[in-house]
Amino acid sequence: MRRIGVAVAAAVIAVACAPEPQGPRPPGAMATTGTATSASPTTSTTPPTAVPGPGGVVVPVFQQPYRFGTPQQHVPPTTDGLVPVVRRIETDRPYVFITIDDGAVRHPAALELMRKSGVEPTLFLNSKHVDGHADYFRSFHGAAEVHAHTATHPNLDGTSYDFQRQEICGNADLLRAQLGAKPTLFRPPFGNFDRTTRRAAADCGFTALVMWTAAVNDGVVQFQAGNRLNPGDIVLMHFRHTFVEDFVAFLERCKLDGVTPVVLEDFLADPRATV
Ligand SMILES: [Zn+2]
Repeated sequence: MRRIGVAVAAAVIAVACAPEPQGPRPPGAMATTGTATSASPTTSTTPPTAVPGPGGVVVPVFQQPYRFGTPQQHVPPTTDGLVPVVRRIETDRPYVFITIDDGAVRHPAALELMRKSGVEPTLFLNSKHVDGHADYFRSFHGAAEVHAHTATHPNLDGTSYDFQRQEICGNADLLRAQLGAKPTLFRPPFGNFDRTTRRAAADCGFTALVMWTAAVNDGVVQFQAGNRLNPGDIVLMHFRHTFVEDFVAFLERCKLDGVTPVVLEDFLADPRATV
């Protein structure tokens, strides 16, 4: 209840301070107003900490602590033909990572939330949700990174190499063809995998299998351990009807815990490609 009260108050302030109908611009965007009015609040050099979002929800805003798209750390090595399993990112910097899975519900407010918050999530998408809806997922270009989650979302654990390879390579092929994506990270459905999964992922050109340490469900951030987000945490949410509640809950939790969401693939950079 307290959080909602604060959010409503912030919404009133943010709206009251907005001098133009289109509202605040995304972080880093240049102002395009022609003749400036000298006393306008837009002349402030302090970036907003929250802006009005879809349906009047207050969207916490984050500034990029480094230039997104710039590799920060390398992915652990693939050994014996098996991709590494990444459960969290080893970093002392106050950064966390948001991942959004499946793509079952194509929520119309998702892109606006990403842009306004200044947060670039990692999307682990299934072919069955992208195929036939590529326009929707292509709209995230420049606002999120697309990686792989199998073609049909099966439980891979215990299934044959040929089946797993088909699910993983086939998904990568579709994401490349329909979205222009360059998937290097793989998340197994339900978090279930075996050695065959790691081998098939390596053979399909992936560099890591990515798990998670916290999840957002029904607008609540849930932790696998402890009661707060810590540096290096990887958070899981889904494209659901509760997208706005879930994404905003994650953003608010980050503000509360003093961490900034940054780009996962920047911390799992392929040493063969960059840096
Ligand atoms: Zn999934």
